[in-house]
Amino acid sequence: MSQPSDEDLVRFSRFLLAPEVSEDSLLRLRSSSVAVVGVGGLGCPVALYLAAAGLGRLRLIDPDKVEISNLPRQILFGLDDTGRDKAQVAAARLGTFHPETQIEALAEAVTASNAQSLLSGTNLVIDCTDRFAARQVINEACHRLRVPLVIGSALQWSGQLLVVDPRQKGSGCYACLFPTEDEQPAVVDAACGAYGVVSTAVGLVGLMQANEALKVLMGMPAPTGRLWQFEARSLGLETMRFRPRRGCLVCGGLGEE
Ligand SMILES: [Zn+2]
Repeated sequence: MSQPSDEDLVRFSRFLLAPEVSEDSLLRLRSSSVAVVGVGGLGCPVALYLAAAGLGRLRLIDPDKVEISNLPRQILFGLDDTGRDKAQVAAARLGTFHPETQIEALAEAVTASNAQSLLSGTNLVIDCTDRFAARQVINEACHRLRVPLVIGSALQWSGQLLVVDPRQKGSGCYACLFPTEDEQPAVVDAACGAYGVVSTAVGLVGLMQANEALKVLMGMPAPTGRLWQFEARSLGLETMRFRPRRGCLVCGGLGEE
């Protein structure tokens, strides 16, 4: 495909007027494949916005089933979906909204033994899980596959965002900030079921993840080496810069092999 279809030129006419967006941006998005790990409060808005933005292929990975307590923030699900696989329901719903996007649903948990095969063949991975251990496994697999990774998390009124790009020297990685060899920090591993989460706060972090994903896929510079901390009550956004950590067991502190 050397130029967008006539329909896409009309559909994305407003988007095309924005700075740093071109017909090439549309082509890049249409030819991109993204894995979203976790189709919950973060993964639902991420998947919805990426499909709406014209993404070519989306792989949704989540072993869980829809529960009634998910409905306030997991916006692709309704009451009739309870008890069904989240990945399957989300794929079906997105397919009716945006049939141009090819969607694959995998009702599986990402583990150390299957992470590389589940995430291979993608241009970008978005971590929308709520577990420290899963995030470490995804970070390591992305480093091996040399695929950029957008990590988000949310708890109560606050959230965090981090972009890792193993293709860039000196990018650092999740394990540079939260070493795999450390004890699992309890607060990082706190699922929202234990501490609670505000639907709009987690939705905002999901949209930030989708925003960073679009930028990376369109070829804009990946904002690596920074951890954003978001607080929804004050609308505060703080940036913490970090360097690759020498001796990091995943990236070695170099960002490239
Ligand atoms: Zn590292």
